Amino acid sequence: MIGTQSTLGVGKPGSALLFVIASPVGPYYPTGFKAVSLEATSRYIRAWPGGVGDMKLGGNYAPCIVPQLDAASRGFHQNLWLFGEEGYVTEVGTMNLFVAWITPEGQKEIVTAPLDGTILEGVTRDCILALAREHLTKEGWEVSERKFTIGEVAKAADEGRLVEAFGSGTAAVVSPIRLISWDGGIGGTPRDITIPLQEGKEAGMLAERMWKWMEQRQYGDVESDWSYVIPQHHL
Ligand SMILES: *Cc1c(COP(=O)(O)O)cnc(C)c1O
Repeated sequence: MIGTQSTLGVGKPGSALLFVIASPVGPYYPTGFKAVSLEATSRYIRAWPGGVGDMKLGGNYAPCIVPQLDAASRGFHQNLWLFGEEGYVTEVGTMNLFVAWITPEGQKEIVTAPLDGTILEGVTRDCILALAREHLTKEGWEVSERKFTIGEVAKAADEGRLVEAFGSGTAAVVSPIRLISWDGGIGGTPRDITIPLQEGKEAGMLAERMWKWMEQRQYGDVESDWSYVIPQHHL
């Protein structure tokens, strides 16, 4: 949406133009999933409390291009955006992030950052939470929207409690993650966090099932109030 009134200055626009771009997309992974490697970034901040990180606002994306090129120059696909001295895990590139692990108390948990104003309220995030609550709670998974840190992810990996991690967004639906490179935080030692994938595959079991459940609804293979199947005689 762009302001279209003929004045120069900062202010509420008197008129605006809203573009809706509808286009078909090809399969994001024509040859199947490709798990990505991330660089956990605390040097750059994507969003902050009281800011506009929860909006699809142009100004949120331009500043992410240089950090993304930086990460790419070191062989990483995307930035994992951290926040604060605690190293809170927020989002990956322009996707929401899900981590599946066994908590120190022994509970299976799927966790994503809460909508505290620094997180884009992704439609796919919402779908994944709904699908996880529908299908995975009965398998003993707890589904949580809460703050967690990169230190906790590293510790879970060290203790063999990390199950998998994936990004979520409209284009890819789910994007499995194989590795996170982390500078270790303030005074910490840089290290790589290896994320488990299924043997010989580019995705974890949960990401793979999530993708299937989403696609079944997108193609109308499973009845859902998220989709409307257009009767053939209308085509
Ligand atoms: C677009 C976007 C997402 C994903 O949103 P969807 O509605 O699922 O496509 C997540 N995080 C950021 C920062 C985004 O820009």
